[in-house]
Amino acid sequence: MSDTPALTADVAKIMPDMLERLEALVRIPSVAFPGFDPAPVHEMGDAVVELFTAAGAAGVRLVEVPGGYPCVFADLPGPDGSPTILLYAHYDVQPAPASQGWSTSPFEPTTGEDGRIYGRGAADDKSGLVIHYGTLRLLGPDRPCRIKILIEGEEETISHLEDFVEANPEMFRADAYVIADIGGQVVGRPGLTTALRGDVACTVTVRTLEFPVHSGLFGGAAPDAMTAMIRILDTLHDDNGDTAIPGVDSGSWEGAAMDEDVYRQGSAILSGVDFLGSGSLSDRIWAKPSVTVLGMDLPTVAEASNVLLPEVRAKLSMRIAPGSDADAQLAALMSHLEAQRPWNCVVEVEKVKTGHAFKVDESNPVVIAAGKALEAAYGSAPESIGSGASIPLVASLQRVAPDAAIILWGAEDTAKARIHASDESVDPEEIARMTAAQVEFVRAVARR
Ligand SMILES: [Zn+2]
Repeated sequence: MSDTPALTADVAKIMPDMLERLEALVRIPSVAFPGFDPAPVHEMGDAVVELFTAAGAAGVRLVEVPGGYPCVFADLPGPDGSPTILLYAHYDVQPAPASQGWSTSPFEPTTGEDGRIYGRGAADDKSGLVIHYGTLRLLGPDRPCRIKILIEGEEETISHLEDFVEANPEMFRADAYVIADIGGQVVGRPGLTTALRGDVACTVTVRTLEFPVHSGLFGGAAPDAMTAMIRILDTLHDDNGDTAIPGVDSGSWEGAAMDEDVYRQGSAILSGVDFLGSGSLSDRIWAKPSVTVLGMDLPTVAEASNVLLPEVRAKLSMRIAPGSDADAQLAALMSHLEAQRPWNCVVEVEKVKTGHAFKVDESNPVVIAAGKALEAAYGSAPESIGSGASIPLVASLQRVAPDAAIILWGAEDTAKARIHASDESVDPEEIARMTAAQVEFVRAVARR
């Protein structure tokens, strides 16, 4: 921890510039979802090239990713024989529809009375961009090791980067990958994410009639598709709210505990509403599966008329336990759904995607170095936490460099950042601490 005060002072000096740059990036509505204007996404790609050029990254450039938006890439040499660290973040953001209930304009960054910067992408993941920017600036031109920069343009939607990385292993090979797109539980309390749940998804379609018919003339004997669907979906959980699908793996969490107050605040659960499931809170959100109905094709209340519905379709997502096999977990969910046929209704199940779960090897010396870097920057030892979210690229990076350490961290605190939701925000102090941690980490890995 010897040079930490000096490092903290160096970070403080560049913070006004980092925050100004962050705000400029938030102003670009880089939503890469289908149906959104591609122009701001491309504008953002150019802005990221400028950002890293300004940080001293020679040769930083846009690289076409087949089928998708370009990524930003740089390969910055270090001393001969030094290790390679790849810094990852993404420049696209989630949409920010007014229906989410924003208090401020999402693409006009606003500093709140709490000092946080509000705006879509302020945390997820434009904070990651400026943390990497600050890291490069502070390392200066004499970098202690080789550094690669990889900034994705479509992490929040259908990503094409995984295939591209696996098709170009040499370009993306590294000894350590730093994914700055996550965060600790609360600001000021360092967290190192050591497990990610995977995410598998499918659709289920239920049919009972050839076409809609009068619910008074025919209701009572002919089953409607909605009633059958409700029965099917009800089989996904037991009375306790635990996932009850044969063949789906479960686990228990051995790291730090999820703080119940943080979880209540982050999850926005109404007071008086009970938690689902059993086990510790950490078990439930980081180590056990959870299945959610994300949407259904059905008439809205306003459109509803007195008919029996012939067909209903639902999309389901299942978060799967770290260490489990995504293909096997999805197969278990799909065969469970196919086996549910109330009143012999017709059930069709289709795969949507498999996203793999991930576990960090905490005995890896590079991972230990990351923990020490967090401790130096925050002044307290980090917690080993999980994340219910999934980062599918991690599985591809593991295939490219099976022995590399994967460091998952960032400035997106669970309690208040509200990523993907309304009033997303980031705490500038967290950006400062994470920048110091990354510089410390790069220097420590280079010394090894
Ligand atoms: Zn993100």
